[in-house]
Amino acid sequence: MTNFGLPADFIEEVKRRNDIISVISKSLSLEKKGRTHWACCPFHFEKTPSFAVNEVEQFYHCFGCGESGDVIKFVEKYENMTFFEAVKFLAQNAGMSLPEINVKNADLEALKQKEKVLKALSLARDYYISKLDLTQNTPATAYVLKRGLTDEVVKYFGIGYSPDWNGLIRHLEREKISLETMKLAGLIEHNEHGNPYDVFATRLMFPILNSFGDCIGFTARTLDDSSKFAKYRNSTQTIVFDKSKTIYNIHTIKNLKKEQNIDYIIICEGTIDVIAMFKAGFKNTVACLGTALTPYHASELKRYTSKIILCLDGDNAGQNATYKAIDVLSETGLEVRVVKLKDNLDPDEFLKKYGAEDLKEALSVAKDSIEYKLDTLSIKNDLKDNYQKNTFITQALEVLKNLNSNSEKEIYLKIVAEKTDVPIDILRRDLQKDRVDNPHQNDGEMNEEKDFITRPQGEHKAVQFVLASIIHKQEYAFPALSKKLIFQNPNYQKLFDFAKECHLEGKTYTISSLFDYFEVEKNEDISRIINFNFSSFNENKKVYFDECLGKITLLDLKAKQEQLMKSFKEETDNAKRRQIAEKLTEIAKEIKNGDK
Ligand SMILES: [Zn+2]
Repeated sequence: MTNFGLPADFIEEVKRRNDIISVISKSLSLEKKGRTHWACCPFHFEKTPSFAVNEVEQFYHCFGCGESGDVIKFVEKYENMTFFEAVKFLAQNAGMSLPEINVKNADLEALKQKEKVLKALSLARDYYISKLDLTQNTPATAYVLKRGLTDEVVKYFGIGYSPDWNGLIRHLEREKISLETMKLAGLIEHNEHGNPYDVFATRLMFPILNSFGDCIGFTARTLDDSSKFAKYRNSTQTIVFDKSKTIYNIHTIKNLKKEQNIDYIIICEGTIDVIAMFKAGFKNTVACLGTALTPYHASELKRYTSKIILCLDGDNAGQNATYKAIDVLSETGLEVRVVKLKDNLDPDEFLKKYGAEDLKEALSVAKDSIEYKLDTLSIKNDLKDNYQKNTFITQALEVLKNLNSNSEKEIYLKIVAEKTDVPIDILRRDLQKDRVDNPHQNDGEMNEEKDFITRPQGEHKAVQFVLASIIHKQEYAFPALSKKLIFQNPNYQKLFDFAKECHLEGKTYTISSLFDYFEVEKNEDISRIINFNFSSFNENKKVYFDECLGKITLLDLKAKQEQLMKSFKEETDNAKRRQIAEKLTEIAKEIKNGDK
């Protein structure tokens, strides 16, 4: 790690004055146990806390993903900052200023330029705000009132107005902002005569803030609906604004998260929707700005919640956007629901017509994303027409194909069956046939069995397959006999230990002799292993065995991890705690390797 020419004792002082607990607790809710504070890790998806912050040692460590570091590293990672930016941020936090440094450095130059641009944008925002005087009767005021935007909301979102083509430029020049910086900030362009003009002239201005509340750009609405220009104009890409990475109203979400857990975040189509939702009490609402939802947006949102409710427009474009957003969000591990508002209204219109209570009701019955997909497909096709009904079934099965578990598939197959009156058995067979026909998964039956390790019940099956292979003396299973395998089920352990003992001592046994050692008839677990049916497995058994074995080892590691986590939380002796933490780090590494 380079210090960018910053003296080491300065860095130490910055760390000393920024207690790691107080810095992290601004972003995560920490729960104190002994001298360690726990939270759900912000760097990987989890539901139970394994992210530990050590007050004495002033470092954090995640036992789930292995991420660790000091307070500077945390700010770097969490806020997406460079090392230099993080140090500066923390120094300011502690009321310290950066020492003069003589090193020429590209990062430092970039930071300085960023700061100039942010200053220009902040001054521009203040200027626009000063030009929206709600006591005056102007087109801008008329629009604000028509939209039902209250004083409070206008203030909170910093809504302003750009009255003309050059007022902003004159104002910023007085503030010693160069035309070059204004251009870099995306505030001005030059006309064909080379004269600069405010690109947002005569528009209502909505500042776009980053999670710190800095203004990084604008979205601007024309007041003249008959204008040939686009209704909304967003800032162009600049060094501080990238719409593929920006979420409107994220600063509110960040502040909410400091106060309480956020059950879900609502995603709407536009700024006006977000503001209307905010006004109606749904502060946990955001929007993307003139772009489709990206994986970056998704992982940013995942820091604050585990569930998203999509509330995009009901028109065709909105539906397509919903479809795509579902996939992007689900891939990040977020639970996704979709709400469709009555009469295809957008949230702003809906709230005006029906009010907040009805919206709350609509949110509470939001459909899960798969059901939503099936619904839209069934509406697109006329199910009374046989040809279209067939198309619907093909499309629906395509959606269900990617579900992880058979039980999940069953739930939705039932819906398809109800919609089409085709018996569920037939649909199920079609869904399975589709797998076999799929050229990418051409090992047929094997695949059917093979994917069971990823199903909810798959863990038991993996264990059974491994044990049955051992007991039935399959050659590929021999190497496993020199390992120390741990089974949660004591009967399985007994069987394994027996087979291992025989193997090590050169004793032989026949399957039938097992009936003498174990009360097979009375013991369902053991009977299942002895009567295991290998017929659905072909020559790939060895590959599959190794996969299952990996799964068992992983299960064992995870069980150990859980045990250790428990004793770590309970242990009060510091030296012992450190020993446990070391073991946990080892296990986390092994799990990480095994999960690949
Ligand atoms: Zn983690």
